[in-house]
Amino acid sequence: MNIAFFDAKPYDLPSFNAHAQANGVTFKYFETKLNEDTVELARGFDGVCAFVNDTVNAAVIDRLISMNVRVLALRCAGFNNVDMKYANGKLHVLRVPAYSPYAVAEHTMALLLTSIRRIHKAYIRSRDFNFSLSGLTGFDLHGKTVGVIGTGRIGRVFIDICRGFGMRVLAYDKYPADDLANGDTIRYVGLDELFSSSDILSLHCPLTEETYHMINQDTLAMCKRSVVILNTSRGALVDTEALLNGIKSRQVGAACLDVYEEESELFFEDNSGHIMEDDTLARLISMPNVIVTSHQAFLTEEALENIAETTVQNLVHFAKYGQCENELCYRGDRAEDCKSGKCF
Ligand code: NAD
Repeated sequence: MNIAFFDAKPYDLPSFNAHAQANGVTFKYFETKLNEDTVELARGFDGVCAFVNDTVNAAVIDRLISMNVRVLALRCAGFNNVDMKYANGKLHVLRVPAYSPYAVAEHTMALLLTSIRRIHKAYIRSRDFNFSLSGLTGFDLHGKTVGVIGTGRIGRVFIDICRGFGMRVLAYDKYPADDLANGDTIRYVGLDELFSSSDILSLHCPLTEETYHMINQDTLAMCKRSVVILNTSRGALVDTEALLNGIKSRQVGAACLDVYEEESELFFEDNSGHIMEDDTLARLISMPNVIVTSHQAFLTEEALENIAETTVQNLVHFAKYGQCENELCYRGDRAEDCKSGKCF
C-alpha cells in the first residue's frame, strides 16, 4: 500500500518507518498539511495518513474520491477535523482510538503543577541566579476539588492521578460510566454543580457541536473565583476571548492550554522568527498565569510507538479485508468506531 503521509514531523519517522517496513506499507512523507490546496499531492496513492490539524472537509473528500483515494488513516483519536457526516459512505476513515491516555493525563497534571507552583517562573529566575521566592507562593492540591468533563480513557487516568494527590473529584460525562463514581471521592454531577463547586476544571471530552465553547462567558461566571482551567482536549471547547476576559477580571486564576481554537496554522511549527499575527494568542501567552504548550500532550515515546503500530495495522487490515474495526461510522448524530467491522 502506498500512503501519502501529511504533516510529517521528524519524530514521526522512526516508528512509522519501522512498522511500515515490517508490514509492506510505503509512506511518502509530506511536511505540508492536508487541505484543499495540497490534496493534489495524494494523486496516485492508495490512501492518505493525516493528523489533528489537517483539514478533511467536503471539498478535500471530493478531491480524494475523484483521485480514487478511498482510505484516510488518521494517526490520532480525535476526528473533529474530518467532516464525518460527508465522508460517510464515500471515504473509509480509520483512526487510532487509544494510544496512551497516560501521556495526555500526565501532561495535564504537569501543566497544573507547573502553573500553581510557579515552576515556569522559578526555572527562569534560577537560570539568572535570582533565588528570590517573592511571588512564587502556590497552593496545595490536596483537598481541592477538580471538575473533570469527559470520563473516557484520558479523563479516567487524570482522575486516578488527582486522587493520588488527595483531591475530591466531581465528574460530568454525557454517558457516565457506571463503575467510576464511588459516592465519596468521585461523584458524577450536573454541569452547573461542577462549574460552581470546582477549584480546577479539566476538559477531556471530544469537540462536537454540543461541546463547542462549553467554557464561555456564562459558564465562567458560574465558576468559583480564581478557578484554574485545564484544556488538553481540543481548543474550541473554550471560547478564548471569554477566557481572556476571565483572566483579566481575575475570575480565572490560571489557564493551562495544550490546545487552542486557532492552533491549526501555528502549532507544531517554529514561529519564533515571525511577528505573531494572532493577538489573542499573543495576549494569552503574555499573561503570567497562562501556560501554553503546542498540542504536545500526546508526545511520548510510548504514544508515538503505539500510534505508528495501530495506524499501520489499520491499513494492513483494511487492505486485506476491506474493513477495519477502527473505522469510524457516522450514525444518527455522531461518529463512532465500527462495531461490526463492516462499514459501508
Ligand atoms: P474517549 O472517547 O475515551 O472519552 C471521551 C469522553 O467524553 C467519553 O466518556 C464520552 O462519553 C464523553 N463525552 C462525549 N460527549 C460529551 C459531552 N457532550 N459532554 C461531556 N462528555 C462527553 O476519548 P479520550 O481518549 O479520553 O480523549 C478525550 C479527548 O482528548 C479527545 O476527544 C481529544 O480531543 C483529546 N486528545 C488530546 C490529545 C493531545 O495531545 N492534547 C491527545 C489525544 C486526545
